[in-house]
Amino acid sequence: MSTSVGKAKIDLLRTLPGDDVRQILWRFADRYDLQMLVQSVREVARGPVARLVAQGARHSHDWTPEKNQLLDAFDKSGITGVFMEPEEGGFIAGPKNLAMALVAFELAWVDAGAATGSLAGCLALSPIHERGTLEQRQHYMSLAAPAQPGEDRKPWRGSFALTEPIPYVGVDASMLNGKVRVVEWEQGKEPILQVEKRGRFITNMGFANFVTAAVDTDDPRIKSSCMVILEEGDPGIYDRGTPTRKMVHQLSSTSDPIFNLRVPASRIIGGYSVKDGVIVPNFDHGEVIEAVFKRTRVTVAIMTSAKLLSAVEPVIRYQRGRYRGAEQTQPGSLRYELGLQQRQDALHRLVGVWSTGEASSSLGFAAARLYDQLDPLERQKDEVFKTQGVTTLRAQMKAFKALTDDAVKFLDLEAAPEGKRDVALYDKLKNDPLVQFMLLDAAANVLCPAAKLWNTGVGATVMREAVSLMGGYGITEDCPGFLAHKWMDAQLEATYEGPEAVQRRNLTLTMANELFLAQWRHWIREMREIASRRPGTGACALATAMTMWLWTYNFLQRSADAHGAKLYHGQRQGVTFPLADALSWLLAARCFILDLVELEAKGPGNPVVAEGLAGTLQFYTDLCHVQAARSAGEAGRICAELVFGYRRHPAWDDPNYGGCFCAGELDALESLVPGIASCATDVIESNGQHPAKAGPCAGCEGVQDFLQLRTKLDSCLTGAQLAKDRAAESVSSVMIPEALDYPR
Ligand SMILES: Cc1cc2nc3c(=O)[nH]c(=O)nc-3n(C[C@H](O)[C@H](O)[C@H](O)COP(=O)(O)OP(=O)(O)OC[C@H]3O[C@@H](n4cnc5c(N)ncnc54)[C@H](O)[C@@H]3O)c2cc1C
Repeated sequence: MSTSVGKAKIDLLRTLPGDDVRQILWRFADRYDLQMLVQSVREVARGPVARLVAQGARHSHDWTPEKNQLLDAFDKSGITGVFMEPEEGGFIAGPKNLAMALVAFELAWVDAGAATGSLAGCLALSPIHERGTLEQRQHYMSLAAPAQPGEDRKPWRGSFALTEPIPYVGVDASMLNGKVRVVEWEQGKEPILQVEKRGRFITNMGFANFVTAAVDTDDPRIKSSCMVILEEGDPGIYDRGTPTRKMVHQLSSTSDPIFNLRVPASRIIGGYSVKDGVIVPNFDHGEVIEAVFKRTRVTVAIMTSAKLLSAVEPVIRYQRGRYRGAEQTQPGSLRYELGLQQRQDALHRLVGVWSTGEASSSLGFAAARLYDQLDPLERQKDEVFKTQGVTTLRAQMKAFKALTDDAVKFLDLEAAPEGKRDVALYDKLKNDPLVQFMLLDAAANVLCPAAKLWNTGVGATVMREAVSLMGGYGITEDCPGFLAHKWMDAQLEATYEGPEAVQRRNLTLTMANELFLAQWRHWIREMREIASRRPGTGACALATAMTMWLWTYNFLQRSADAHGAKLYHGQRQGVTFPLADALSWLLAARCFILDLVELEAKGPGNPVVAEGLAGTLQFYTDLCHVQAARSAGEAGRICAELVFGYRRHPAWDDPNYGGCFCAGELDALESLVPGIASCATDVIESNGQHPAKAGPCAGCEGVQDFLQLRTKLDSCLTGAQLAKDRAAESVSSVMIPEALDYPR
């Protein structure tokens, strides 16, 4: 199928991208286990989950018997077991971050509350999985695994309890009010602890059999805070609390529990040692939480991406059918066939929703895959440090510091042409688990918060666009695809597991890591290289914007504001937070382009994808271009505000200041805004100098490179709107199924 926009013939997208395309884009074309998992989760999502939503189960925030049936469906479909190792009752060997992300994607395609319910169980187990002792891991993982054939038992469900009633823990995880004390410690026996914890907004609490809870020490005989495991049968109070009156995610259970329980000290997650009569937890609560959230936030990010992509089909169907059946609309007429899709804005806005959904999926899945690579390396790193006797965090940091140059060297060697690199050194560094860990960890520490921040924050805003495209229908419960629910739900995804402020705060630190910045430079070169091969992808604009981001970062690091105060500083969120936003826009667009490159390389090898590949590639190329242009524009605006916004405005009598315009520019503008030139020529005349001749004014001093980049960036947007027109053409002609494959 092809058409012509203007004079050029273009290939059009024939059908909505199916599983084969997605498997290539998100790199699980060779993972049969994950493909099966996707099918199995989809049946639950578009079956029992969709039916519950359609029947109005979201009208109540209570945990009802109908909602409870979802847990069985999760067990039977493999959703519960996806987190466990095969020996613990699971079925996927090795790292599971991509698997978890795919589960979240499929469930959130229909309802993110259901996705959250399933993932909260994994979140409860995560502290044990990441930092628990071997015994803790084996015990709780097997309890939580679904019953195997022939077994008659109910799997244990868990909750993760960090957040406390106001004024305690929320964004600030150090504000712990939950307490742990020693109540019994007989000579030679295990100490018994009293744990008091109140939770706020704790997911799965309506049915959880155990809770992993963060508590602070309230006893000189316990050295630090820690996370402890609480069980339903422990002596004391295990009160599930009142359900939270949620307006979102009603297919998950949330409440404010109260615990006051006696537990053995062996429940401290990660174990403890005893030094001079004091219990020393091996990990404080902050260390456990950090290890947990750095992985689980990726799956939350993916939920919002799924919603955006899930909106495409219902919106197309609505737009096309909008005028059918009216007397004035005859079959075969443009209005009958295209409906609202006759209107350019309706198409362009849908292209925007679609490209955002694709870019956020690309970013989220890239982060998930990165953690799949990182997990085994992390274990290797731990082994190496153990054999080297490097045990404390401080000693590890020192060891890493000493290897930084090697890591940068490795990046340079990898970028060098094969014939020109020192092969022996390259191989040595490639096989050094510490070097490889450092590099991947630096990238993952940026990709995870960026995905959580951008996918959910920008995603929630763009989800509103999707809702608006359905008109009044969009904000009713009858809206196909449950779009209004999804819009509201997106705000929770932007909030829980750390709102946007938390992600921006993390990025402030992690994007400043030397090893991340070294990789960023390589990524810019990579985009330039792609731009030279595939100019239509927007890679050129993106490479320029990435360069501008780096320039701005360096500038902010070494500059002060008009009052002499340092610009890049942890406390200066007005500087660091927008810069983190800009970075996230660029990362999402980059991941999208890399996925397109993958599709181009692997698509021809798949018979299903190969059919109609030209149209698919053209469409994805155009979507990438649209997204790259949008991201570059956003990053450019943010960078310009930061570079200029903290400078003092030049005095009007600055001899080099020409009222913002040089005389030549003013002449051109005079025809647009009559009188504009005479307003400023007084200044130019009183200065007696033409700014262009006199050199930079105080406002531009030291930032001429930035100005050049900014001009270059604008010109890099060449063709982006043509790409949007082409993508819109595909959106107006792509075939869609007769009806949505889940109820409304
Ligand atoms: C439905 C639901 C389910 C949840 N499930 C769980 C769960 O299972 N387990 C659990 O432990 N928690 C859970 N939570 C809690 C959730 O993680 C917290 O609500 C979230 O982390 C934010 O904390 P807070 O609400 O106290 O916001 P606050 O800490 O009050 O922050 C409010 C806002 O203030 C600003 N802000 C705060 N601190 C800073 C800062 N340092 N810098 C800049 N700005 C700042 C930000 O804009 C922030 O969004 C859940 C919440 C909901 C609503």
